[in-house]
Amino acid sequence: MNIPFVDLGRQNGKVRTYINTAIAEIIDAGEFILGERVAQFEESAAAYIGVPYAVGVASGSDALLLALMAYGIKPGDEVITTPFCFISAVEAIMLLGAKPVFADIEEITYNIDPQKIQEKITHKTKAIIPVHLFGQSATMDQIIELGKKHNIPIIEDVAQAMGAVYKGKKLGSLGDIGCFSFYPTKNLSCLGDGGLITTKEKGIYEKLKALRTHGTQTKKYYHEYIGINSRLDAIQAAVLTVKLPYLDAWNNERKMLGERYNKQLNTQVTIPKNMHGSTYNSYCIRTPVRDQLKEHLEKKEISTSIFYPHALHLQECLNHEGYKRGDFPITEKCTQTILALPTFIGMTAEEQDYVIHTIEEFFKQRTQKGL
Ligand SMILES: *Cc1c(COP(=O)(O)O)cnc(C)c1O
Repeated sequence: MNIPFVDLGRQNGKVRTYINTAIAEIIDAGEFILGERVAQFEESAAAYIGVPYAVGVASGSDALLLALMAYGIKPGDEVITTPFCFISAVEAIMLLGAKPVFADIEEITYNIDPQKIQEKITHKTKAIIPVHLFGQSATMDQIIELGKKHNIPIIEDVAQAMGAVYKGKKLGSLGDIGCFSFYPTKNLSCLGDGGLITTKEKGIYEKLKALRTHGTQTKKYYHEYIGINSRLDAIQAAVLTVKLPYLDAWNNERKMLGERYNKQLNTQVTIPKNMHGSTYNSYCIRTPVRDQLKEHLEKKEISTSIFYPHALHLQECLNHEGYKRGDFPITEKCTQTILALPTFIGMTAEEQDYVIHTIEEFFKQRTQKGL
């Protein structure tokens, strides 16, 4: 049986006729940039997350960049974030000339460790970016407390966890700003790139709206700020408006897949610890024989991915920052042992059973060989 890592066709197929209609309407109306469709989606997304304001932007990466711009991050500033992640947050920090300061992760959630954040705070720290990795919240209580105590804004990277909840509140409503991505494999996704920023502060909201469209706050062709061009397309906003009502059901489907894996795989591998109601945007296991397992699954036509194979502090583009191997041991250990299994909307129980069975078979064969 051939098991893809993700099959987007199954999810999009469920809403395809509605999407077709919504796109046709936009073509007829001819309103492609911002306008009513984008405003309508921003309103529903803000209500869904439980904040007064949301701003549609071109991608999750731009959401992070614009969030830092809104808080005036500049050269000489330090921003604390996790070394175990996709590069977007670090990229945004460095594009503004600021310094990424890493704090290692908690081994049980793969998220940034509040204790280690505390050790890294200096008078230069101007923002903290916790990432809710794989669909599960970072330990937000302690992070928010640190932000309040030191007067540092908390920028949540919610790219992998839209709809996930921490102590009764939707992620993206806990910190000062929430950054979302609608990249096709995220919990809520569009048909290309897209992103969103949520905020509770009117001033930040107004500034973000200006920054995403060349720094224009009041009048066209008058520029209060140096901004960028980063808007959510009307077509993508229309697609997202169609899909948003399905998000909770889709997240539940992911949760059920995750829990099913958890129940079946817990003796052979390290399963993810579900501390705060993970939405399993990715389902990741760990094993010291990760590469051998991946190879075995490939032979059986099961696609897997590694999130992430190389820690951020060891990336070539950060060489000049002077980090070295051994600086963040938990992150480094995870990059060597982690493996993401197929988990997607529309995955059948039969397909999941085949993945589970193939993993069990791999470990049985190792035992037989005396390994
Ligand atoms: C996907 C992702 C991003 C970037 O989003 P894009 O829309 O692809 O720019 C940022 N952070 C995390 C944790 C992500 O998973």
